[in-house]
Amino acid sequence: MVTGRRARAWPAALLAAASLTAAGAAPALASAQFAPGADGLGDPFFPHAGNGGYEVAHYDLRLDYRPDGARLEARARIDANATQDLSAFDLDYRGPRIRSVRVDGRRAAYGRTGQELVITPDAGLPAGSRFEVVVRYSGRPRQIVDPDGGIEGWVRTDDGAFVVGEPQGSPTWFPCNDYPTDKATYAFRITVPRRLEAIANGSLIERRRRGRTSVWRWRERSPMASYLATATIGQFRLERSRFGGLESVVAVDPRERKASRGPLSKIPAMTRLFESLFGPYPFDETGAIVDHAPKVGYALETQTRPIYDRAPGQPTVAHELAHQWFGDSVSVASWPEIWLNEGFATWAEWRWAEHRGGRSTARAFRHMLAVPADQDRYWDPPPGAVPDPSKLFADSVYVRGAMALEALRQRIGDDAFYATMRDWTQGHAYGNASIEQFTALAEARSGQDLDSLFATWLDQPGKPAV
Ligand code: ZN
Repeated sequence: MVTGRRARAWPAALLAAASLTAAGAAPALASAQFAPGADGLGDPFFPHAGNGGYEVAHYDLRLDYRPDGARLEARARIDANATQDLSAFDLDYRGPRIRSVRVDGRRAAYGRTGQELVITPDAGLPAGSRFEVVVRYSGRPRQIVDPDGGIEGWVRTDDGAFVVGEPQGSPTWFPCNDYPTDKATYAFRITVPRRLEAIANGSLIERRRRGRTSVWRWRERSPMASYLATATIGQFRLERSRFGGLESVVAVDPRERKASRGPLSKIPAMTRLFESLFGPYPFDETGAIVDHAPKVGYALETQTRPIYDRAPGQPTVAHELAHQWFGDSVSVASWPEIWLNEGFATWAEWRWAEHRGGRSTARAFRHMLAVPADQDRYWDPPPGAVPDPSKLFADSVYVRGAMALEALRQRIGDDAFYATMRDWTQGHAYGNASIEQFTALAEARSGQDLDSLFATWLDQPGKPAV
């Protein structure tokens, strides 16, 4: 089946039934292999996150939001490629009521169980073929509570919504293949009452008044993991500028304006520093979204344009900016490997402080080493051995995680250390990588056996004895 076209002659239900009896039976029909895609990718923490049998190339999201009734009227168009002969496939979805689902322009059957939206097209989708899914849905999107008690997803604010998705909130507002390994490009078209702004990732294509509403169009042309998407709505003042060849949009809630001005003004200098250390900034756009959403309690490295729940300090701005290299461009291959995001971004915070004439990374390391072993939140779990999803964003992942990198730098020296960092960001740009790949790269660049260093800092429970 090399045509890349759909096998219209075979109703999916028949194919699904055929696949049940196919094993061991006569392999007379190639179509007997049509089967439903997996309902998850088997992540150790979120086994149902992501789906099997296809990959998304592009999301085109049309959202119409009225904060008064908190109603979202939406249409998601998803361009995907089948990677197996599919009789049915899932999208991850935790949103409001589905109105219709079409596959390649024809109505498809669908059902919901848990976070899965199960779609059965009227004909099978052959491996290698491209297909288009259009999902219409409307109602009140909701936030979700994570295993660590944090909230995410479509989080309502007093003037709109603070929209974040790490690790599993994006399906609250659009159906997606919600796993960091399936990156795609995005187009957003967001309609809001005209007194409000709507801020998403990437480039601002258009803002246009239409009656009592305004329409905001954004486009993210670099591959993006679904958890890094945002469509944040509220009252914002926008500052558009260019620096270093980048399009910058900084959107700030007027209530947070004064306090955020200083730290945000450092973004160009931070970008220059990180480029000199880690390699080129990976995207064409930059900026920030500073909202007033105090109940959230954290910031997120939404791609190209990090989002803050309040006016951030300089360390937080440096942290979220560093995530553009570590997390957004080079993304984790599975959620337990979160050290590759949080340890690296925290070390970068320390490095920015050093650059500014503050405490050096070596002193930050010594300072933390003075923290007693019984202050266990800094030491456990070990950052390379996060035991369960409630510990994904534990202090130890950030702080001991940054110490692990600093211990590496001190051991192998600046030259090998920064060569490792640059090879990392270049070798895995817009992709995914694992802790094992990082430690192997550090060994290759330094020519040293680093097993015991990484075991000490990443894997052994309790405060490292050094
Ligand atoms: Zn972080």
